[in-house]
Amino acid sequence: MIESPPSAIHYQVSIANLHAHLFKVTLQIAAPAAAQTLCLPVWIPGSYLVREFAKHLQNLQASQGGQAITLTQIDKASWVAQCNPALALQLDYEVYAFDTSVRTAWLDVQRGFFNGTSLFLRVVGQEQQPHTLELVSNAVPDDWQIATGLTARAVNPAGWGQYSAPDYDTLVDCPVEMGAFWSSEFTAAGVPHRFVVAGAPPSFDGARLLADTRAICEQQLQFWHGNGADVQTLAPFQDYLFLLNVLPDGYGGLEHRNSTALVCSHKDLPRLSPIATEPDSDTPLQSEGYTTLLGLISHEYFHAWNVKTLRPQPFLHYAYQQENYTQLLWFFEGFTSYYDDLFVLRAARIDRNQYLKLLNKSLQHVANTPGRWVQSVAQASMDAWVKYYRPDENTSNATVSYYSKGALVALCLDLTLRAEGKTTLDDVMRALYQRCHHTGMTENDLLAVLESLSGRSFSSEIRDWVHSTQELPTTSLLQVHGIASRPEKQPLAQQLGLRVKEQNGVTIQHVLRNSAAEQAGFASGDEWLAVQAANASPPTWWRLQQIDDILLYCANPAQILALISRQKRLQTLTLTLPSASSTSQLCILDASLVARWLG
Ligand SMILES: [Zn+2]
Repeated sequence: MIESPPSAIHYQVSIANLHAHLFKVTLQIAAPAAAQTLCLPVWIPGSYLVREFAKHLQNLQASQGGQAITLTQIDKASWVAQCNPALALQLDYEVYAFDTSVRTAWLDVQRGFFNGTSLFLRVVGQEQQPHTLELVSNAVPDDWQIATGLTARAVNPAGWGQYSAPDYDTLVDCPVEMGAFWSSEFTAAGVPHRFVVAGAPPSFDGARLLADTRAICEQQLQFWHGNGADVQTLAPFQDYLFLLNVLPDGYGGLEHRNSTALVCSHKDLPRLSPIATEPDSDTPLQSEGYTTLLGLISHEYFHAWNVKTLRPQPFLHYAYQQENYTQLLWFFEGFTSYYDDLFVLRAARIDRNQYLKLLNKSLQHVANTPGRWVQSVAQASMDAWVKYYRPDENTSNATVSYYSKGALVALCLDLTLRAEGKTTLDDVMRALYQRCHHTGMTENDLLAVLESLSGRSFSSEIRDWVHSTQELPTTSLLQVHGIASRPEKQPLAQQLGLRVKEQNGVTIQHVLRNSAAEQAGFASGDEWLAVQAANASPPTWWRLQQIDDILLYCANPAQILALISRQKRLQTLTLTLPSASSTSQLCILDASLVARWLG
């Protein structure tokens, strides 16, 4: 028996079956239309791929006053209920939840998690009404608690009970975590924050994670809103929630208006000091993976301003049933990527040299992507739905990442503005936020802000860097700021233009455009079985276990023969090794110049 619901649109989520990974959802609509349409979103904002959440919805039934009524499915994710508008409409259904990613839903004996886009049918025409949610703790272990960014109306100390949202957008932008998780709180610039970690191993150092996250949050709050006492009223959220799920192996994050859902690997968490029995242990307590996790935390938090509040104009009203296009992901994802590691540095969690290593990774990632000659970052943004989120063996030859190259566009803009001495990208971001956070942002807004703060037009830079495939002037701009590129020898696979899997032999995954491997005729999926120098006497095939073994079996090889298996046929390919090409490391030439940029 369900009591009369507290709002016109009311959802109740309970457990249908933990072991079957099924949530039960009951939706009550106080005043339905005579023909009431109900739709489940096909994608989740922040992750630009049609994911067809309806594939996990089952046993959908409609009733009024306890009597079943006619429900007609009109497309893959939409239904129409024929109603008596004078009576409340009730929908009952189940949702299968068994995806560890941050994008859908999960339910088992350890934990539950869901995004509203996976669980909540949209009541078409009533999206602007207040929505309420009741979370019911039936069939879950006694120690399970709730964490969500939704506003609590009437909940017990563990968080079970009633929540509210002013509209459907807010409801589905607040994921819900349930389980026996680690939870702690901190205040940054007067704003309350909560950090929830599910699945942490016993070595987890929660105090360390909290202190580092807090330092990053304080830097960002100060960046956007200054040092005044009014940060709490200016920030786009009243409180903020980090939801981190720790898996044996995993990585990812999704931004929301006052929360973020994150996934990391066991090895990425900061660890408590071990008992001092191994003073010579060279295992660092804080791994490279932890630096990456702090970068992820910083990235998703920055999104609370950049993409959740300051939005591309087409995102002011999300189209949940189809792709929602923007040309500006290079700005919203790329510039957020530029600032994520920068804030780990500004919060003094890494030093300048560590920061430059991270920056170099982005530079090398773009440099090793032949697709940057094929696609601009503006095109990459439009194509996200069919390219970035659907990677295959041709991805690096045909596409460029709007994250990595977008971050380098931000770098080039920042370094150019700083070299000219009138303004910085920091000022540009804040001015854009002030100008557009109610109206949505276009590229013209960026151009206008750049011109008004710098005193000149940046339209040719934006044309060349964003809308063309021209090389970015990163090397020369870094030099102006006291940083040089020092050449380093490339790994052999990279010299050949190959990305391979080395497990029980060598399997080719990617063959890069115009590379030695492409000229020799390698293709994705080939098993590289054996190798010999072209002039070997006597001719002898050597079994290849890893690419670097080529140098073991072919002394100083200019030309080698490769024995491969493609679709079970053996073939011999002739591979001419390129003269060793180089990659580069960044090094500081003038520390005072670097300090002016990086502080
Ligand atoms: Zn992002």
